[in-house]
Amino acid sequence: MKNEKAIVVFSGGQDSTTCLFWALKQFKVVETVTFDYNQRHDDEIECARAISKELGIKHHVLDMSLLNQLAPSALTRDDIEVKAGENGGLPSTFVPGRNLIFLSFAGILASHVNAKHIITGVCETDFSGYPDCRDAFVKSLNVSLNLSMDKQFVIHTPLMWLNKAETWKLADDLDALEFVRRKTLTCYNGIIGDGCGKCPACELRLKGYEEFLQLSRRSELR
Ligand code: ZN
Repeated sequence: MKNEKAIVVFSGGQDSTTCLFWALKQFKVVETVTFDYNQRHDDEIECARAISKELGIKHHVLDMSLLNQLAPSALTRDDIEVKAGENGGLPSTFVPGRNLIFLSFAGILASHVNAKHIITGVCETDFSGYPDCRDAFVKSLNVSLNLSMDKQFVIHTPLMWLNKAETWKLADDLDALEFVRRKTLTCYNGIIGDGCGKCPACELRLKGYEEFLQLSRRSELR
């Protein structure tokens, strides 16, 4: 795949930045795409832009503000509190079909820029419950995209079966651990790096990082 071109769906967060480093190892040309849907923090788009610039990567920003019309979500409306899902329910940040829309537009962009590969950091193991982040859905959309444009796209999901600790390990294996730790934005309060430490996104990220540290200490002892 060394001679081929890829588009990474990119939010500037831990997961998509790890995917970006993964893609840079696999493909000759890599570009990023960020979706602007009036996120609570423009910081997310700025962070994605800054990382792409630092790595010398062409960055596309697509206006998806129509999502704000469709979804009364905590990510897009300031008057709704961000909450984790309770009793296995979806978190209040849920926008139905968001990933379906994003991956479809990533496919159209890939077609425009002649990229065969699309990389997304979605994952089944984080229990967030988004049905359009599951492996079966991504595979099904891959077939639909190919049929819709008569293309041979390949959607890659390097994080699909990894937990948060394993995602940190992947960043470490790609020599990107410190970059991902210091320069990515996961925090709902818009703080880059280790974040506010209190919101659900920070809690998940820090818990995964601590588990990763424990695992690597244990393997050093062996
Ligand atoms: Zn936070």
